[in-house]
Amino acid sequence: MSFHSFQLHPQVAAGVSAAGYSTPTPIQTQAIPPVMAGRDVMGLAQTGTGKTAAFALPILNRLMDGPRGQVRALIIAPTRELAEQIHGAITSLGEQTRLRSLTVYGGVNINPQIQKLKRGAEIVVACPGRLLDHIRQGTIDLSRLEVLVLDEADQMFDMGFFPDIRRILGHLPAKLQTLLFSATMPAEIRKLSSEVLRDPLTVQVDRVSPATTVSHALYPVAPHLKTDLLLQLLEHTDTGSVLIFTRTKH
Ligand code: AMP
Repeated sequence: MSFHSFQLHPQVAAGVSAAGYSTPTPIQTQAIPPVMAGRDVMGLAQTGTGKTAAFALPILNRLMDGPRGQVRALIIAPTRELAEQIHGAITSLGEQTRLRSLTVYGGVNINPQIQKLKRGAEIVVACPGRLLDHIRQGTIDLSRLEVLVLDEADQMFDMGFFPDIRRILGHLPAKLQTLLFSATMPAEIRKLSSEVLRDPLTVQVDRVSPATTVSHALYPVAPHLKTDLLLQLLEHTDTGSVLIFTRTKH
């Protein structure tokens, strides 16, 4: 399978080539055709599977036709890091399209966001709280929205965003194409899906397997000894740079 089979608009296809993608990932193969056909899709996929392009490419393709300067696609994500990442992917894949994307999230001054919204964009990538602020202040016009993406829905649930999401949904046009992505599917996500998705197609990809050069080890250890263990491991492992993932920033 190649990206040609999706028959993307040439300016969108140019972004795929510029990104160096030659073969669609499994989530892209499964999700891009139904999303391009206008269906609601529930994607069970985690980060690293190529899920961002799976929704970004059909959205860019759709927005090539129709009015500019109105918010026509809204992507809601749990964290500003993810929002920036999605915005970055859309900006690079959509480089040739002249479509504009901007981000909306809290913890930063709201005024530059208001200015950017005034200048106009077709795609907004937002975190729920700040988006709701803009809706309440009337600084975002979502009356022309066509596509809604709820990305990492399980994270948004864990972070307590569902009440905000439901409030946001109440301000959106009734007729929308909605895409929901989640790595896991607990009952709460199923419930939200049944509320927001119409006749959805479910696409699922298995967990991505690590490169064969990666070995895994698990060390059961008392919490108070974790730091000492980590330091020991670092001292006794022959390695250059190290990437450590932790649960919280602390
Ligand atoms: P994501 O799961 O959306 O966070 O994507 C994970 C990474 O895979 C990103 O760095 C993408 O740029 C990259 N990626 C997405 N689709 C493809 C593809 N078809 N071929 C190669 N890399 C890709």
